[in-house]
Amino acid sequence: MIQEKNRILVVDDENSNIMALTHILSPEYTVYAAKSGRAAIDAAAKHLPDVILLDILMPDMDGYDVISALKSNEKIREIPVIYITGLSSSLDEEKGLLLGAADYISKPFSSAIVKLRVQNQIKILNQLRTIERISMIDQLTDLPNRRSFETRLDLEWKRALREQRPISILMIDVDRFKNYNDTYGHQQGDAALQAMAETLLSDSGALRRPGDFAARWGGEEFIVLLPDTDRQGAISVAEQIRINIADTPIPCHRSENKETRITVSIGANTCDNDSTQTIDEFISKADMALYRAKKEGRNRVSQ
Ligand code: GH3
Ligand code: MG
Ligand code: MG
Repeated sequence: MIQEKNRILVVDDENSNIMALTHILSPEYTVYAAKSGRAAIDAAAKHLPDVILLDILMPDMDGYDVISALKSNEKIREIPVIYITGLSSSLDEEKGLLLGAADYISKPFSSAIVKLRVQNQIKILNQLRTIERISMIDQLTDLPNRRSFETRLDLEWKRALREQRPISILMIDVDRFKNYNDTYGHQQGDAALQAMAETLLSDSGALRRPGDFAARWGGEEFIVLLPDTDRQGAISVAEQIRINIADTPIPCHRSENKETRITVSIGANTCDNDSTQTIDEFISKADMALYRAKKEGRNRVSQ
């Protein structure tokens, strides 16, 4: 995969500074330039740079005003800002940092220091992104976790309401999984959950649309969101998932024929957007359907 270059926005009212900074940074980064505070805010919203280098002394809006405006805009408030300025008293530096700047470089600047300070911010950014990614993923199965699912559901729920489209959810629970663990051991149980996640995500699996979203809800429970899917569609996807899982052999050296199978019960629920369901009811109705599927004998879909 080609790694996209990180993006830097350089803000300075003097052409010579913009040219010098562009020259220093452009071998490594994609550099955008803005010559005024206003232009900086527009460019930040448009290009979503990874780091902003910001001059303080500018006509109209100065750097302090720019950083305040950036911080009040949710889309761009997290972008780290490095002041790069001729103002070099410690009071100026303090004011900049208090307003939320990430770092401070004095003019005249050395190109090595500019590069290193920018690199530092990129390094922090990459660490934050790694933490964010890890915090959204279930460690055992590599599926999105519950938190990630809730974020996605919130988004799709609002979209479904706005566009007056149906939205469906499937609650999936492994049948008699306690028995499975007791028979083959907890490690084999883990392997079964991993195999199940693979089956859910498989290219030839039941989830075909780009918007379909599967996650580990917790323990041996999984959850699937099906945007723009009506009741009938949800049932047919659920049935396909049920069959695919039942058909997937799970290698197991403890079993006589060196493989095992698991089955799942699935509760489906749909919000047609002609009803007044809340998100909580939406989930809990799927849970109740799952309970019925268990009661009616397991390895089945209920709604
Ligand atoms: P039912 O058909 O009614 O769902 O029966 P069940 O045995 O699956 O349900 P129960 O809730 O009694 O047991 C769930 C079991 O799932 C118990 C727990 O040890 C196991 N389990 C939950 N999370 C994990 C996990 O991450 N790894 C393994 N190996 N087992 C897990
Ligand atoms: Mg359970
Ligand atoms: Mg279970």
